[in-house]
Amino acid sequence: MDKWQELIRDAITTPEKAGELLAVNAEELKEPIKKFPMRINSYYLGLIKKKGDSIWKQSVPDQEELNTSGMVDPLAEDEDMPVPGLTHRYPDRVLFYVTNVCAMYCRFCTRNRKVGNPASAVSSTQIQQGIEYIRSHPEVRDVILSGGDPLMLPDTRLEWIISQLRTIPHLELIRIGSRMPVTLPHRITPELVSMLKKYRPIHVNTHFNNTQEVTPEARQVCKLLLSAGITIGNQTVMLKGVNDKPHVMKQLMLDLISIGVKPYYVYQCDTTVGVEHFRTQISDSLKAMSGVKNFIGYLSTPYYVIDAPGGGGKIPIITKQVGKLGLEFMEVSSQEEVESVKANPKVRSVRITKDIDDPEFEQTVSMLRDFSKELIITVNSHAIVNNPTVITEEKADFFASMQPFWLNTAFSNAEQIEKTKPVLDMLEEKGVPLGNVTFLNGNETVQTMRKLVHELLKVGIKPYYIVANGENQQEKVKVGYRIIKSLRGFTSGLAVPHLMLDEGVKKTLLCPNYVVSHDDDKIVLNNYAGELYVYPEPVQDEGCFKPATKSLISESAEAKTGINVQLKI
Ligand SMILES: *Cc1c(COP(=O)(O)O)cnc(C)c1O
Ligand code: SF4
Repeated sequence: MDKWQELIRDAITTPEKAGELLAVNAEELKEPIKKFPMRINSYYLGLIKKKGDSIWKQSVPDQEELNTSGMVDPLAEDEDMPVPGLTHRYPDRVLFYVTNVCAMYCRFCTRNRKVGNPASAVSSTQIQQGIEYIRSHPEVRDVILSGGDPLMLPDTRLEWIISQLRTIPHLELIRIGSRMPVTLPHRITPELVSMLKKYRPIHVNTHFNNTQEVTPEARQVCKLLLSAGITIGNQTVMLKGVNDKPHVMKQLMLDLISIGVKPYYVYQCDTTVGVEHFRTQISDSLKAMSGVKNFIGYLSTPYYVIDAPGGGGKIPIITKQVGKLGLEFMEVSSQEEVESVKANPKVRSVRITKDIDDPEFEQTVSMLRDFSKELIITVNSHAIVNNPTVITEEKADFFASMQPFWLNTAFSNAEQIEKTKPVLDMLEEKGVPLGNVTFLNGNETVQTMRKLVHELLKVGIKPYYIVANGENQQEKVKVGYRIIKSLRGFTSGLAVPHLMLDEGVKKTLLCPNYVVSHDDDKIVLNNYAGELYVYPEPVQDEGCFKPATKSLISESAEAKTGINVQLKI
């Protein structure tokens, strides 16, 4: 038995043991854990600083879980299953349920109907069927291994699944949705990582919810994954009392970027039964997200989404974020300007506006790194696109030694990628996180951009931004909207960049508007396919669902969510 397996075996699962170790009333845990089991391993337990803190709230059962309002399967995942355990909702990607267990049972789990429930265990036949389904559906380019936590499977079993998937020629990307880097970093062993490395491109989507989780252990295993060329993204759920404050969310995003993890999505909490006490009012969520906007620079910014009740998919709800330079983010063009970074204690991230082939570039990076170990340094490089040989082995080593250092390539079409593959590989193998920024010229078509983003993902680069700057900004913004709208939902969310209007000191992130209306008790949303969905606001005293009002908009929204909706424009 490996260390991680022992830690799981010895986890707290009974009220008695919890009562002993946590100073809680064991009686009060009995009912909640009948509904959803408890499992707190000693690593995660060790992160608790005090009763009721963010780690405690995520792991220790609460009487509030007995509240019966909400939905059992809010995302209608079980309905969209062509074969058991495989949800095929979006055109080109599937969610593949490979296990029902986790290293820690998160009290807010959307899949609490299945997770930890022996009746939802996954059989070999089921996995085989899932693989065959993907094999016979050439439109599927992307699979997300999910659960439970796929990394609960022993290496041999996991390798069997992944190697089978890799025999499917049309499958481009394998994603693993795992909370192990957060809840039990011991699971990310060197053996696991070298196994995964053989099957790249592999992307790990993890789930940090609070800075208290960004520990030296977590940092170390993320580094291990990155240096095997495995990219890491993060999804966070907005949870009351855990991360629903602007400074907490901002700190979390910055901490993730510092460990090479790309903030991908932040979710409004689902309307799952037993999770009601974690839900925040949307206006409070937006306030918390406002903390993130000031450092948008050219760094990874998450999309704030509602996963539409009834199965409409993830819908972004923030249409505009304005960021100004000079708070947490600064641009530096010369060595002299390094002095202003030093003089401004608020700065957390710096973009160097020189390219990597500039003679002063490395010196500038070193000066910044000497000044601070934590400072996030980033650069947008055209040079690597135009002349890949600027990346020598020494340069790649230098970048690797300067972490947290993010290199953004500036590819504008898929054809440019081929000749840079060897240097991209080298950078990835050394653990340098890569993103891409495309500067729009206004003549892009949806087809060429679609091709570009998919090729980028195949070589392990996250498309971060498409940028409207310089001349003809309004035209470029229009093209940008068209591109985002044609990607969002239709293809992997990983492939969808942000649209940035860059006017120098002022940078604005723009997103198509999917919000139809928002009032006190609900938000009405259009999903990517133009269907209407409703997300109800939490109501503290009388359960989350308000009494029915007359429906004015959509029968289908009503049928899908079971909630009557009334449109207020
Ligand atoms: C979230 C999700 C995906 C992946 O969505 P991306 O936006 O590509 O990350 C795929 N299928 C289902 C059912 C999902 O819920
Ligand atoms: S790790 Fe994910 S699937 Fe497992 S309990 Fe936590 S939220 Fe649910």
